[in-house]
Amino acid sequence: MSVKVCKFGGTSMADGNVVANVKKIIDSDKERRFVVVSAPGKRYSGDVKVTDLLYACFEELRNTGTCADAFKAVRARFTDIAKQLGLKLDINSVLDETQKRIDEEKSEDFTASRGEYLSARVVAEYLGAEFIDAEDVIFFKEDGTLDGGKSYKAIADAVNGAEKAVFPGFYGTGADGRVKTFSRGGSDITGAVVARAVNASLYENWTDVSGFLACDPRIVDSPKSIRQLSYKELRELSYMGANVLHSESIFPVRKANIPIQIKNTFRPEDEGTTIVPTSRYVPSGGTVTGIAGKKNFTVIFIEKSLMNAEIGFVRKVLSVIEQESVPVEHIPSGIDTMSLVIESGALAHYKLERILEGIKNAVEPDIIRVIENIALIATVGHGMSSLVGTSARLFNAIASADINIKMIDQGSSELNIVVGVKNDDYEKCIKAVYAEFFGK
Ligand code: ASP
Repeated sequence: MSVKVCKFGGTSMADGNVVANVKKIIDSDKERRFVVVSAPGKRYSGDVKVTDLLYACFEELRNTGTCADAFKAVRARFTDIAKQLGLKLDINSVLDETQKRIDEEKSEDFTASRGEYLSARVVAEYLGAEFIDAEDVIFFKEDGTLDGGKSYKAIADAVNGAEKAVFPGFYGTGADGRVKTFSRGGSDITGAVVARAVNASLYENWTDVSGFLACDPRIVDSPKSIRQLSYKELRELSYMGANVLHSESIFPVRKANIPIQIKNTFRPEDEGTTIVPTSRYVPSGGTVTGIAGKKNFTVIFIEKSLMNAEIGFVRKVLSVIEQESVPVEHIPSGIDTMSLVIESGALAHYKLERILEGIKNAVEPDIIRVIENIALIATVGHGMSSLVGTSARLFNAIASADINIKMIDQGSSELNIVVGVKNDDYEKCIKAVYAEFFGK
């Protein structure tokens, strides 16, 4: 029988009533055997996520040597949930133990990971399923990235014989043997790793929205929902800020061709969005699948006559940036010009000044200029490459909205076109592009 892995996000864990709903979802399909959970999220707007409460615990621990005071709020969240669910588990002694270990470990990652740990303990008990600690089955390499081989094997061994099992998301064990977390939102990655390890037929990611929308609903009113995305489209959209799913969570499942389905815990009947390999992708007929973007980039513009003929020019420029350990997002170029698009936050602490000095010394450009406060907007879709005139429509729409395009980069995948505009034009630009390809 095929198996499904279900990951439930923070809002699906927020209180006992929602967790009871989660059990109904799991019980309604026998294939839903392996469950990954996040820490309890917000119950209402203005509430604080348990993970954020835990980061506050670490702050207190660092300042005073114990997290005793801040941990009270974490304790209250979990005792409430256990009470609502009528659990037999002695939640207070689990919490005592956890608080003691936080004080002993004195590690930010360990402290932050306890939300998922406690969540999984509670859900395992409530479902009558086995609890498998991520500490024992998810491993990181020396460089901090996932050790896939070791993790897949450990998970496959751990689930052997288990009818149902619950895993905490977000953390594992680092190369130094201590608990280490993924970046924020990383339980999505844990779900994908478990799906790969058990060779799931589907990775269901249960959240509080009915899948991906064609653009940010805070900018365009009720945008169209996206039924199907390819892994590649998902990667482009989530990298550019569509944050339904952690942008790194496709890597483990993509290799094994396991589809991901985004579902809404609060509206389980909604179809959601399915993410499939490009080979199984059924074009919807639309030119553009989605639009996403991010603000606050810096563009370093370099001009030098005969740049194209100068052997090693690009390498010299890039090695200056590499020395500062700064990632470059895009490198649009012409025969005598090149631009480097970098997230502005990565250039703090005088890195920008050092990079400019380094480039001047390394390649002696005729002109070097910095353009700040740039927003990038990606228009993504497999339909774009085969249709003549898509870029003309895109640029016309932006021009008609009276927006000046500062930079253009068409990914070599022909799957997306990225434009850079002023931060202030960001919302207006997304509205214009949406209206052009999806109607008003
Ligand atoms: N609880 C963690 C966070 O808030 C991880 C997750 O929810 O995926 O980032």
